[in-house]
Amino acid sequence: MAVDLHLHSVFSDGTATPEEIVATAAEIGLTGIALTDHDTLEGIPLAAAAAEALAVGFIGGTELSVQWRGRTMHLLVYFLQPGPGPLQDRLEALRRAREDRNHQIVGLLQKVGIEISMAEVAAEAGRGVVGRPHFAGVMMNKGYVESVAEAFDHYLAAGRPAYAPRKTLEAGEAITLARESAAVPVVAHPHTVGLRASEVATGLQDLVRQGLGGMESYYGEYSPEMRHRLSDICDELGIVATGGSDYHGRYKPDLKIGVGRGDLRVPDEVLDRLVAAR
Ligand code: AMP
Ligand code: ZN
Ligand code: FE
Ligand code: FE
Repeated sequence: MAVDLHLHSVFSDGTATPEEIVATAAEIGLTGIALTDHDTLEGIPLAAAAAEALAVGFIGGTELSVQWRGRTMHLLVYFLQPGPGPLQDRLEALRRAREDRNHQIVGLLQKVGIEISMAEVAAEAGRGVVGRPHFAGVMMNKGYVESVAEAFDHYLAAGRPAYAPRKTLEAGEAITLARESAAVPVVAHPHTVGLRASEVATGLQDLVRQGLGGMESYYGEYSPEMRHRLSDICDELGIVATGGSDYHGRYKPDLKIGVGRGDLRVPDEVLDRLVAAR
């Protein structure tokens, strides 16, 4: 029995609806899932209702980008309920900061000869919080690149010509706000922070003291060895080793719900441990 605690829907930069995600989860026999759209809780009621109807365990969440020691870290925040609250009230400002940045990215892309408008990006995103994958989608539709990966590698990733940073919370602040909101903050895909595996344990001790509840260890893009190593580090730190596919539908075509690239299996005890960490 397995779970998938990292999924993106059309409410951010995924291409499946919450209902479609739940239906797939039920079909492949997952016992629980978490919806973790970037900076929004909008899909949670729909996913929760669909999950209840199909008897799939469900927890709401979101994925935030935060600053930590001058680096960008992603935090998954589980059990965050839609409605007012200490962290919830900050989400709108985070979405507004994206709008400023989106206009900058359009300008930067135009400067390097890519004809793209904010209206095209908004149409690509539909009702979702706009993210860089939507820019990549427009660039693909118009034949500028052949894949989302190529759009990031050549234009959108940090250090590339159309990269624009945006205002985010500090890691410690986000962790404190999450706990004040009865939610459990978890470091997502720790490799993207740019620490060596050997540095992760000591590096994260401060954040654990501030309330970090887990680290994503069973990740769709990691080798089995890496997953083991990270879950051992979680044991040492006394936090929960969580996991998920980081499914984004067509924007990450090699990652599937529940199984990632095919070999992922997140044990369902993870969900029980997260509940206990609440
Ligand atoms: P944003 O929130 O707008 O900064 O976009 C971040 C999202 O872009 C992440 O959730 C990933 O889904 C995606 N992303 C980041 N880097 C890459 C990459 N190199 N290739 C494909 N997708 C990426
Ligand atoms: Zn994303
Ligand atoms: Fe992420
Ligand atoms: Fe993600």
